[in-house]
Amino acid sequence: MKNDSRRWIFSLFFCFTIIYTFSANAQDVFVVTAVKAGHLLDPETGKILDNQIILIENGKFKAVGSDLSIPVGAKIIDLSSLTIMPGLVDAHNHLALTYKIVPERNIYYYTYISESTALRAIQAASNGMQMLASGFTIVRDMGNNGNYADTALRLAIEQGWIPGPKIINSGIIIGGMGGQFWPTPEMGIGKNIVNPEYLDADTPDEIIKAVHQNMLYGAKVIKICVDCKPWGYSVENIQLVVAEAAKGGMKVEGHVQTVDGAKRAIEAGIWSIAHDNGMNDEMHKLMAKKGIWRAGTETPITLPEHTTPERYAKTVASLRNAYDNKVPLTFSTDADYYVPGKTRGEVAIEFIETWKAAKIPNVDIIRAMTINGYKVSETELTRGPIKVGLAADFIGVLGNPLQQIDALREVKFVMKDGEIFKQDGVMTPGKFFHGGPVNGYNIR
Ligand SMILES: [Zn+2]
Repeated sequence: MKNDSRRWIFSLFFCFTIIYTFSANAQDVFVVTAVKAGHLLDPETGKILDNQIILIENGKFKAVGSDLSIPVGAKIIDLSSLTIMPGLVDAHNHLALTYKIVPERNIYYYTYISESTALRAIQAASNGMQMLASGFTIVRDMGNNGNYADTALRLAIEQGWIPGPKIINSGIIIGGMGGQFWPTPEMGIGKNIVNPEYLDADTPDEIIKAVHQNMLYGAKVIKICVDCKPWGYSVENIQLVVAEAAKGGMKVEGHVQTVDGAKRAIEAGIWSIAHDNGMNDEMHKLMAKKGIWRAGTETPITLPEHTTPERYAKTVASLRNAYDNKVPLTFSTDADYYVPGKTRGEVAIEFIETWKAAKIPNVDIIRAMTINGYKVSETELTRGPIKVGLAADFIGVLGNPLQQIDALREVKFVMKDGEIFKQDGVMTPGKFFHGGPVNGYNIR
C-alpha cells in the first residue's frame, strides 16, 4: 500500500471516529426539562408554594425550588396557571377485568368465561391509559386478571411499549377451594374452572406452592381470600402466606368480608385489608394499633349500579370511623366494571364522593390518594413524592384541591417518568410508544 493512500484511510478513520464520538455523546446528553409550577401542592405539609421551578433530567426530579436558575437549552414547560401535585394512587383496581350490564349483567363470572386473557390484557392496556389520564400514576392491580394479564401489562409498561401507571400487581388471587366462585361440581371437579381467576390452596403445602407460583409469574404483592368461604384461612394459614411472601420481598393483601375474617387477618399481621364489610370500631382500633392499611374500596352512591343506599350509608359511616380511629387509609376503588360514559379513570375518581360524604378533610383525602398510596405500594423511596432523585411523575389541575377536592376530577397535565402524557387536558402519549423494549428486557 502506498503511503498516500494509507494516510487517506487513516484520515477517513479519524473522521468517522470523531463523527461517531460526537453522535454517541449527543445521545448521552440528557436534555433538562424545566417546569414552571404556578402552585406546588405538598401533601405532606398540606401547603401550596407559589412560583416553583421543577428541573427534570433523565426521567427523574433533579431539583425543586423557587430560586433555581433554568439551565441554558432546557426544555421549558409553562404550568403557571396550574396546581402541580404528586400523582394519585388507586390501591385496589382490576385493570384486566371489565364487566358490563350487557351481556353479563354485571356478573364477572360470566366475563371470565366469555373473554379471553388476551382480550382482557388489551382492555387492561386501555384501562391503564385511562387511569393515567385521570392522574393515577400508580395502580395496585389486585387479581381477577385472567392468566396473569396484570403481569403482562406491568411488563409492557416497564419495558416501554405503552404508557400506563406504575403497576403493583398481585397475580392470581389465592384462596380456599372455589375462591369467590361457587362452581357446579361438573365444572369444578377435574376441570378446575375457578382457575385462572383463583388458585385453590387449602393445605399448607398448596398455600406455599400458590405463593411461589405467583412470585414466579411476576406478582409484586400477594393477594389472598381470607374468608371467601366458610372454610377460609386460619391465623396460621395467613401467617404462612405472609412468611412465604416475605421470601420474595412481598407484602400480603387480604380480601376480607367478615368481622371474623378481619380479626384473623389482623392477628396474623397482614399488610393491607381490602373492602370494608368486615370493619367495625373494634377492628379499626386493632388496625390502627398494628398499622395495617385499610383499602376500603368505598363505592359511591353516584355509581348506583354498584351499591345501595343502605350499603352506602354503612360505607360512609365505616370510613368515618376508620378516620376517627386513625387507621392508615388508602384510596381504593375495586373498579372492575364499565360505567357507560365514563373512562376507568373517571370511575376511579368518582370515589372521592364517599370521602366527601364521610367529611374527611380534603388534605387527608389527598394524603390517602398520594403519600399513603405510595407507602402501601412500597414506592415511597422511588416514585410518588416530588423529591430529588425520584421518578418524575406529577399531575397538574386547575384550582386548589385543598379547598375544592373536585379539582381532581379534571386533571389537565400528567407527566410520567419525565415524559408528558397529557397536556392542556389532551392525551399526548406518542413518546411512550416504542417498537421494542427500550427500557430493557426485564421479564420479571
Ligand atoms: Zn377487588
